[in-house]
Amino acid sequence: SQARENLTYEAFGVAVRELAQTIADDGYEPDIVLSIARGGVFVAGGLAYALDCKNIHLVNVEFYTGVGTTLPMPVMLAPLPNAIDFSQKKVLITDDVADTGKTLKLVHDFCVDAVAEVRTAVIYEKSHSLVKCEYVWKRTDEWINFPWSVLPVVRKSGEPVTPSKEAL
Ligand code: 5GP
Repeated sequence: SQARENLTYEAFGVAVRELAQTIADDGYEPDIVLSIARGGVFVAGGLAYALDCKNIHLVNVEFYTGVGTTLPMPVMLAPLPNAIDFSQKKVLITDDVADTGKTLKLVHDFCVDAVAEVRTAVIYEKSHSLVKCEYVWKRTDEWINFPWSVLPVVRKSGEPVTPSKEAL
């Protein structure tokens, strides 16, 4: 089986603070944190608190159907964030990982002409990503197990548990 990068919730706590420090040191003060659901929501919450940004928006993007298996292209699901809210604003797009980078590119392209400034922050960036994020905590080319998606879906006690696709 393929080598994995394992992120624990504890290590995530360290990662998100260190990522915030990098952003603060760079002098970027976002007005809006735009999270790509679902993985980017964890990162957005942590960064928004750490950077004292009270405005979080969310966009749902569907792309991966399993480990390394995807739809032909990522798609943004309705409802889309209102571009009016973003004009004149400094936006920080967050996701858990830039892998192919197609998801971040889709959301970046959606924002870039509608806002004052847009930058991206991720915990992980893979070397083949077509988007080079401004803020990256760690680089890897392995499949990453995230603590929020590696465990099985919670069922009623006693009902059969289906292992997460990522745990296989
Ligand atoms: P991309 O569009 O950059 O290829 O992938 C973006 C999304 O795919 C991520 O937000 C994440 O949900 C999922 N993804 C891509 N690579 C990985 C990985 O190595 N591990 C996990 N758990 N999810 C991944």
